[in-house]
Amino acid sequence: MSTVKYPIPAPAETLAPGPKTESGDASSAQGGGDFDYRLPSPRDATIMMVDDEETTIDVVQMFLEDAGYTNFITTTDSTRALDIITESRPDVVLLDLKMPVVSGFDILAHMRADSSLKHIPVIILTSATDGQTKLKALELGATDFLGKPVDSSELVLRLRNTLTAKAYQDRLAFYDGLTGLPNRRMFMSRLERALQRARHENKNCVVMHINLDRFKQINDTLGHSAGDLLLKLVARRLEACLRPDDLVMATEPQDHDDNLFRIGGDEFTIFIPDIGKADNATQLARRVLGDLAKPCYVAKQELFLTSSIGIAVYPDDGDDLDTLLKHADIAMSHAKQQGKNTYQFYSKEINARTERRLSLEHQLRKALSRDEISLHYQPKVDIASGRVIGAEALMRWTHRDLGMVSPMEFIPIAEEAGLITELGAWALHTASAHCKGWQNAGLGELRIAVNVSSQQFRQQGLLQTIQSALGQAKLDPKHLVIELTESMIMANPAESVAALREIKEMGLKLSVDDFGTGYSSLSYLKRFPLDELKVDRSFVKDIPGDADDAAITAAIIVLAHSLGLSVVAEGVETAEQLAFLKNVGCDEFQGYFFSKPLPEPAFVDRVKLAQEK
Ligand code: C2E
Ligand code: MG
Ligand code: MG
Repeated sequence: MSTVKYPIPAPAETLAPGPKTESGDASSAQGGGDFDYRLPSPRDATIMMVDDEETTIDVVQMFLEDAGYTNFITTTDSTRALDIITESRPDVVLLDLKMPVVSGFDILAHMRADSSLKHIPVIILTSATDGQTKLKALELGATDFLGKPVDSSELVLRLRNTLTAKAYQDRLAFYDGLTGLPNRRMFMSRLERALQRARHENKNCVVMHINLDRFKQINDTLGHSAGDLLLKLVARRLEACLRPDDLVMATEPQDHDDNLFRIGGDEFTIFIPDIGKADNATQLARRVLGDLAKPCYVAKQELFLTSSIGIAVYPDDGDDLDTLLKHADIAMSHAKQQGKNTYQFYSKEINARTERRLSLEHQLRKALSRDEISLHYQPKVDIASGRVIGAEALMRWTHRDLGMVSPMEFIPIAEEAGLITELGAWALHTASAHCKGWQNAGLGELRIAVNVSSQQFRQQGLLQTIQSALGQAKLDPKHLVIELTESMIMANPAESVAALREIKEMGLKLSVDDFGTGYSSLSYLKRFPLDELKVDRSFVKDIPGDADDAAITAAIIVLAHSLGLSVVAEGVETAEQLAFLKNVGCDEFQGYFFSKPLPEPAFVDRVKLAQEK
C-alpha cells in the first residue's frame, strides 16, 4: 500500500504497463488475429485526491482500500494540486470543487487546457449537488460527478468504470495494434522521465534504432498480410533478445517489457536506461542482428530478413529524446549505406556527412532547372591509328555556391533519391544532339558513349528515352554506345540478357564499364550481346610496372577478343602505359595522357587539333 501525502517526492511512473506477450514458436509467424490485450488491473491504478478536508480524504481512501486499491496521492493544498498532477500523472483525480484560493473548477479548467493532462479522468466529489454546479463541472470536462457524503458502493463502481475506460484509451493511444508493443507516443511520454532520472544519476542511456532491410520489397512481393506476420515475428524476436536472463542488460528485470517500442512501419527502438559500458550496446546490437537474421517462415516461404541498427548514447550524442532518436536514425541510415545488416554508432562525422548528403540531394533537385548540370566529353582514341573515334559523356554539376561536385558523389545520391532517371534522360538527349552536331560540323563519324545507371537500366522507360534522344537528334543508333557497369548487369544476369537484347536490337552498341571490378561469370559474358569491354583504371594505373596488373590486363584483352569484343583501356596517363597496351593488342584508350574530359567547345577544338596533325 502506498499513500503519498504531498509535499513528498512523487512515486514511480503510472502509465499502464505493457501487454503481456504471446509465447510460442519464435521462428515462425502463424496467422491469427491481432494482439490479445490484457488490460492492467484497475486496482494497480494511482488515485489522486484533492480535497481541503483531511477527513474526507481519509474516509474515501478507506472505502477504496477496502475495494482493493493501493496507490494514493493526496493533498489538501489546492494551490499545489496542478504541480503534483503534472509531476506524478495519476490515472484518475478525485476532485473537490469548493476549496480556498484555487477551486476545483480552476484545476479542472487548467487540466483540460493542458495537452499532457487533458486525458486524465476527473471525478468530482462535492457537497454542492445542485444542477447548475453539476452542469458547469461536466461542461468543463469532468468525467463523472458524485455528491457528498459519498455512497461507498457507488464510488467504487464509478471509479472502476472510469479506470477501465482510461485503460482502453491508453491502450489505443500508446500501443501498436499489430505487435502489441508500445508506440512512438509512449516512447516520448515515458522516456522523458527515464532520461531525467539518468541525468540525476549520471548514467548513460542508449537509444537503438532498428530498421528492417528491404522490408518494402517483401511487403510488395508477398503482400501486406505476410508483411504484418513478419513484423509480429520481429517484435517477438526482439522481446526475446531483451529477456531478463540477458547478461548484457544492466537494468532491473521489470523494466524489460517497456524497453522495446515500435515507432514506425518497420522501425523498432530499444531504450536502455543504464547501459554501463558502451561495449554492452555493441553486444546487444550484434545479438539483435544475429537473431533477426535467422531464417523465418512466413506464408509458407522461407525468408531471410536482415536489419540495420543505429545507436545514439545519452548524454554524448544528445540531451533530449528527439535529438537522440534523430541521431540514432542518422546512424541507422549510415549502417544501411555501409551495406545493411550491420550496426553503427552515431558520430559527428556521420552527422556532417549525412547533412551534406541531405543538402546535396535538396540542391540536386533544382540543379537541372538551374542549368547547373553539363556534360564534359573525354576523347576515345584508336590505339593503332591514334585517331579520335568517339567520346564518353561525363556529367558535371557546378553548384552556384559549392562549386564543382564530383559525379562520384552526386550520382549515387541521384540514384538513391530517384533523380537519376531524369538526369540520365537529359544526358542521353544532350549527348546525342552534340554528337550529331560534331558529325554535321565535319568531325567525322564520332561515336558517343553515355553512362547508364543501374536504376535507369532496371526501369521500363529506358528504351523510349533512347528512342526519343536518337529521334530528336536524328542520330543513327550505331553512333550511340551505352555504358553499363559489370556489377550492374551481373546483379541479375537472366534479366540483364533480355534487357540488353532489346537495346541491342535498336542498333546501339553496348559497353561494359569498369570491367574487372565486379564478378563476371564467363558463361554469361558469352550470352550478353556486348560490343566492348572497358578495362578498369585500377588495373591500368600500375602497368607496366606491376606484374600482376600487367598479366590481368593482357588476359582480359585476350578473353575479350576471344568473345569478339573490342577493348578500351580507361585512365591512361603515361606513354609507358599506352606502349604496353598497344603491345598486348588493346584497341582503344581514354585518359589524361590524351585529354581530360572537356567542355563541349573545348572537346571540338581538341579533336580538330588531333585531326590537323
Ligand atoms: P566512369 O564511367 O568509369 O568514367 C571514367 C572516370 O575516370 C571519369 O571520372 C573520368 O573523368 C575519369 N578519368 C578518365 N581518364 C582518367 C585518367 O587518366 N586518370 C584519372 N585519374 N581519371 C580519369 P568522373 O568524370 O569523375 O566520373 C566518375 C563516374 O561517375 C563515372 O565513371 C561514371 O560511373 C559516373 N558518371 C559520370 N557521368 C555519368 C552519367 O552521365 N550518368 C551516370 N549514370 N553515371 C555517370
Ligand atoms: Mg563510363
Ligand atoms: Mg569506368
